[in-house]
Amino acid sequence: MSGNYGKVYLVGSGPGDPELLTLKARRLIDSAEVIIYDQLPGKTILDSMPANAEKIDVGKCAGNHTMTQAEINKMLVQKAKEGKRVVRLKGGDPYVFGRGGEEAEVLVAEGIEFEVVPGITSAIAVPAYAGIPVTHRENTSMVTFITGHEDPTKPESWLDWETLAKFGGTIVILMGVKMLSRNVEELMKHGKDPDTPVAIIERGTRTDQRVTVGTLASIAELAKERKVKAPAITVIGDVVKLHDVLGEQHTGTEF
Ligand code: SAH
Repeated sequence: MSGNYGKVYLVGSGPGDPELLTLKARRLIDSAEVIIYDQLPGKTILDSMPANAEKIDVGKCAGNHTMTQAEINKMLVQKAKEGKRVVRLKGGDPYVFGRGGEEAEVLVAEGIEFEVVPGITSAIAVPAYAGIPVTHRENTSMVTFITGHEDPTKPESWLDWETLAKFGGTIVILMGVKMLSRNVEELMKHGKDPDTPVAIIERGTRTDQRVTVGTLASIAELAKERKVKAPAITVIGDVVKLHDVLGEQHTGTEF
């Protein structure tokens, strides 16, 4: 490891409510020389980046890649080799569907010091703001997180729909808007009850959060009617019923 190399911090920014940013994330953002970010952290957090830091938008938002993952990796390595203190800012938690693991591997391979700063993942916090605990003693003691964004032209799905359909716990889908109807169909085809409650939460924890509730059978049509857009979290399971009891919560911050 070269003594002249800088250090890279893989920092999670949480789901959007700026007060859900950790103290450590705040400190590292404020003292960064270079910040490499995409749009997922949300406007308020991005607007709070220090003016004197070099800011690089790698623009990976809902499939609109302005830089490939390989280019992002190269950028991280290059800036660290210039001796810079680099923050790679990511929405939610860097290691939950954020490709943070891949970036960390590249840094290790290049002999660059790095640290991960976990963030509050949208997979848990977004349902929470919508009044949906992902586990509940009376409903389920299991939860699984899956990516809903799979290339439909891929011959084989990575997702084991048969196992998922049998899984009794809560299923939380990230990146699931585009493939929503395929995903709910797969679950029903493999035997999941069409009456299973489903919620989709768009822009969770932000001021314009929106919740759509239905069932496995009805949710795809509802989402189409309401023009549901990414970023959104889909929650499948009995815990969704708690939305009516616990109600929605919004960020306390005006932004
Ligand atoms: N590392 C992130 C997830 C990155 S994948 C995390 O831990 O939260 C991107 C997906 O995260 C989006 O497609 C969406 O499913 C979800 N997501 C992130 N922030 C969200 C938000 N505020 N509201 C709803 N979904 C969100």
